[in-house]
Amino acid sequence: MRTISRYHRPATLNEAVDLLARDGVTSIVVGGGTVVNATEDTSETEVVDVQVVCADAIEEVDDRVIIGAMTRLQNLVDHPVVPPLLRELAHREGPNTLRNAATVGGTVASGDPDSELLAGLLVHEATVDIEHRAGSNGVSLGALLSDPGALQGGIITSISVALGGTTASARTGRTPADVPIVAAVGRVTGEGMRLALTGVALTPIVVTYDSLDSLKPPADFRGTSDYRRTLARTLVTRVLDQLGGAA
Ligand SMILES: Cc1cc2nc3c(=O)[nH]c(=O)nc-3n(C[C@H](O)[C@H](O)[C@H](O)COP(=O)(O)OP(=O)(O)OC[C@H]3O[C@@H](n4cnc5c(N)ncnc54)[C@H](O)[C@@H]3O)c2cc1C
Repeated sequence: MRTISRYHRPATLNEAVDLLARDGVTSIVVGGGTVVNATEDTSETEVVDVQVVCADAIEEVDDRVIIGAMTRLQNLVDHPVVPPLLRELAHREGPNTLRNAATVGGTVASGDPDSELLAGLLVHEATVDIEHRAGSNGVSLGALLSDPGALQGGIITSISVALGGTTASARTGRTPADVPIVAAVGRVTGEGMRLALTGVALTPIVVTYDSLDSLKPPADFRGTSDYRRTLARTLVTRVLDQLGGAA
């Protein structure tokens, strides 16, 4: 756990980004705190709790759903306007104790390579709103995951996902309830197919069927790079079969 030297609970977003921008002071955002509290890093930091300044609401706007950054994963599971794939994958992120604390903003900021929810957000064309001292901007989730530096000094305020489409997922883990070694998700809309994988790169990534051979998955005690590449092809094939063979 980080050594927390000061706790801040700002009342406005401006105050929050100002706290993060102070020279010579290490400070981090805390959402649900499941990563911040579980880390083995014991270095000293101040924390900026964003629970007052980031919404925990879920709202349908036209053909998208806007999810406030402080929305707990369990609220995602329970909410009827959230696409079914995302409700299922939020449920898979962890036990209910974790889901009731962990936030969608914290999940996006963490960029966990094994997060099936992030893979689901990628196929649902997620965009992320970030508040910086210089103002707010929106980026695609894929761009943020490949360049986490874009979040430096910023606060995720909401995540927007596209509605509609037909979806499917497949996974292989050491046990059915374990974090998968590799997982694949897919979504077909009138505009085409989107596929995403976990467990094959430093974060979940968008892939195409033709790009699978060029993956260079990092190996760990759960699987070699070759094994993960083989799993990726097998699981993507299963997802495509569920989606009627569309490639
Ligand atoms: C027992 C256990 C099991 C877990 N299992 C899984 C799993 O299966 N899959 C998985 O993907 N993860 C897992 N995790 C990791 C973690 O729970 C998730 O990534 C979680 O969703 C993080 O959300 P949080 O709100 O608790 O983040 P926090 O701990 O509050 O923050 C995590 C990081 O995000 C930053 N952050 C938080 N909110 C914001 C924001 N609004 N704007 C900018 N930065 C922000 C923080 O500064 C910090 O760097 C697990 C953790 C634990 C302790």
